[in-house]
Amino acid sequence: MLTANSRRSKDSVGLDWLAGNMARTGSGGAASDPRLCPMAEEGEAPESGNRESTEPDKDGCPRWGSQHAGARELAELYSPGKRLQEWISVILCFVLLSFNFCSLIRYFTLDHITSIIFSIFAGIVTADFASGLVHWGADTWGSVELPIVGKAFIRPFREHHIDPTAITRHDFIETNGDNCMLTIIPLAYMAYKFMFLSPDVIHKSYQMDCFVFALAMFATLTNQIHKWSHTYFGLPTWVVFLQDWHVILPRKHHRIHHVSPHETYFCITTGWLNYPLEKAGFWRRLEDFIHGATGEKPRSDDLKWAQKVK
Ligand SMILES: [Zn+2]
Ligand SMILES: [Zn+2]
Repeated sequence: MLTANSRRSKDSVGLDWLAGNMARTGSGGAASDPRLCPMAEEGEAPESGNRESTEPDKDGCPRWGSQHAGARELAELYSPGKRLQEWISVILCFVLLSFNFCSLIRYFTLDHITSIIFSIFAGIVTADFASGLVHWGADTWGSVELPIVGKAFIRPFREHHIDPTAITRHDFIETNGDNCMLTIIPLAYMAYKFMFLSPDVIHKSYQMDCFVFALAMFATLTNQIHKWSHTYFGLPTWVVFLQDWHVILPRKHHRIHHVSPHETYFCITTGWLNYPLEKAGFWRRLEDFIHGATGEKPRSDDLKWAQKVK
């Protein structure tokens, strides 16, 4: 049974990073635990570049990155069928987003502007929470061996922990396909309302539609924002500006999640909820509850992939 004491808080993350580095420099028996490798920092820090190696470290700790045995196997599971699903999702989603955005502008009035702004803000916060919930669920439970969802939807999360820079090599379709798929149904329903319902009815639900649109748009963009948080070279100035002002997930902020064993800071849209959720012990309590109810151990599949050596 997991207890509060068996886990590390966000406050100890810096210590974990140091522990990881100590393990890598060969001090102590913990070096044999590949989970202690702070791979995000190694692969992405501007000063270290995208250094990778097929050779294990001198202390026996496997290299992280695209040459890691688990990362190679997971990358090979990306199939043409999956690619097609992503293409269809991206096209449908962006058509619907554009149509709904134009419709919202068309019906916009300055009446209720305060509640419209509040609805948009609530939509963005909800998207951040949803990103955390989905990310936490996929990181913590399930396995790549599960039928259909394993290879299609859990695989990218496993790959991301052992090869965090892979996402920076994914094109727009692979980066955004799955998130686009998730928002198609609510966006299609909104488009239906704009096409077939009377203006009176549309005005009545206008604030709610602003909430749903902000939620859907930020949910759609989540993995793009996540990709930017792993990109240290060549980002557009406006993206860096949004990161620096914490409008979207900042790079340093997301590094906290990439300290093994990846048990905190799951929200990857804006990251606004990470600190309060960590302080409340939200993810730990949820894991304790599920572990108590099912007996499943959190992150056991993630650990299995991290330890793969061939
Ligand atoms: Zn993760
Ligand atoms: Zn990440």
